[in-house]
Amino acid sequence: MSFAELGLSDKVQQAVAAAGYTEPTPIQAQAIPHVLSRRDVLGIAQTGTGKTAAFTLPMLTLLESGRARARMPRTLILEPTRELAAQVEDNFDKYGINHRLSVALLIGGMSFGDQDAKITRGVDVLIATPGRLLDHFERGKLLLTGVELLVIDEADRMLDMGFIPDIERIVKLVPFTRQTLFFSATMPPEIQRLADAFLHNPVKVEVARAASTASTITQRLVATGREDYEKRETLRELIRNATDLQNAIVFCNRKRDVAVLHRSLQNHGFAAVALHGDMDQHARMAALDSFRTGEMPILVASDVAARGLDIPAVSHVFNYDIPHHAEDYVHRIGRTGRAGRSGQSFTLVSPGEEKSLAAIEKLIGQPVEWQGPTLAERPQSEGSSRRRSGRGEDRSRGRKVKVRSSDRGRGRAEEPREEAPVARAAQPPREERQPPREEQQSRRPRQERNERSSDRGYQGRSRRDEDTDEPVIGLGDHVPAFLMRPVTAKKAK
Ligand code: AMP
Repeated sequence: MSFAELGLSDKVQQAVAAAGYTEPTPIQAQAIPHVLSRRDVLGIAQTGTGKTAAFTLPMLTLLESGRARARMPRTLILEPTRELAAQVEDNFDKYGINHRLSVALLIGGMSFGDQDAKITRGVDVLIATPGRLLDHFERGKLLLTGVELLVIDEADRMLDMGFIPDIERIVKLVPFTRQTLFFSATMPPEIQRLADAFLHNPVKVEVARAASTASTITQRLVATGREDYEKRETLRELIRNATDLQNAIVFCNRKRDVAVLHRSLQNHGFAAVALHGDMDQHARMAALDSFRTGEMPILVASDVAARGLDIPAVSHVFNYDIPHHAEDYVHRIGRTGRAGRSGQSFTLVSPGEEKSLAAIEKLIGQPVEWQGPTLAERPQSEGSSRRRSGRGEDRSRGRKVKVRSSDRGRGRAEEPREEAPVARAAQPPREERQPPREEQQSRRPRQERNERSSDRGYQGRSRRDEDTDEPVIGLGDHVPAFLMRPVTAKKAK
């Protein structure tokens, strides 16, 4: 099937051709004709299937006809996260190059002022997260009575994030006669109830069985130890030995772990950025941008931040933690192998996580292969003995030393890394890394001390930012600069 057969306008078809798409994806082929004929659509599709274009392209076509009403948006798209909303805006920019439409992005973390100004000038398309949309409505800045087409995207994610009451409120603010497109990757009973309530006689389009995984993804399990430092070491090995790694998302279950793992990877010389819900909007956008452009090929992320992100060519997904909810596994690994490309996913499994693994395998309806020994075959003492000695192999290699695991033991540990661009990109220029020794001594006495302590065989704790699991007592070796300043006592009167 070609795009020409779907009934899209010429302007839209030209934009699609300019984007380089030759054939509609299954969700596009199935949904677009129904959207154009003004039917409500219930779309069951994961991200990565091309579902954003499945609603954006017919929306643009429909917006070409009909009259723009002053200051009243005609279409409203609801997204669970700011990033997803920003991605939909990017889609409008890409597919709407031949249209002169005004699009407003109403998301948290950005100033109300700019958004207000845009609304006042009049917009055709609103893309919003539920909370911020309601904030604008309550401030009396927004009229939703002109909305003809409503899109509720990632409904199951909205449910996870507790947005359903907001969505129910918003739906009451838009006309009953509107057309509704409702997308969800899965259809648990609560989502089905909402679909029944919001949609009128919908056409159901489903591109993959709920909770199925794409066949383009090679999935592997990797047995590791229970301790964080063991898991970090396993992850580093996996990244170093990965074949065809272009870029990767590393998923953690907790925001705190995102931050810790991110810092650890950086300390080990990997070019990594972090993304989680507690970061402010600018930091999140900056992190995503550096990942998208390839400047930072590793993204360490939590589920909330990373679900649904449109990052076209992720070659690898690493589950640093096995997800608590089996469905998250499907979403996480769905970040790779998108739009027909191949991808690889690796899930770290440690003792005690067998139940979570069983739930995943049950959900996806197939066992996942182990890479290397299974959890039962893995020697249990390996990690703990290293912990007892307090010397991880990586520590002895130093913080910024970058070698592949195969280089170990060949006496090359101090050589700069030749391979693994994921690591190389993290490195500052050599001059910056290694100032002349005298300069180091005068500028950074603490580091010098620490280097010596590591030469001695790492007796005692040295650098606070080292990837170590030993607790720091007091300030450790670090003496804050203000304590070193000379103090002049005031003369007594
Ligand atoms: P989505 O499921 O909307 O997140 O889209 C996944 C990716 O597929 C995005 O990077 C789109 O740019 C891309 N895409 C969408 N439609 C097509 C198509 N017909 N052919 C090739 N790639 C597409």
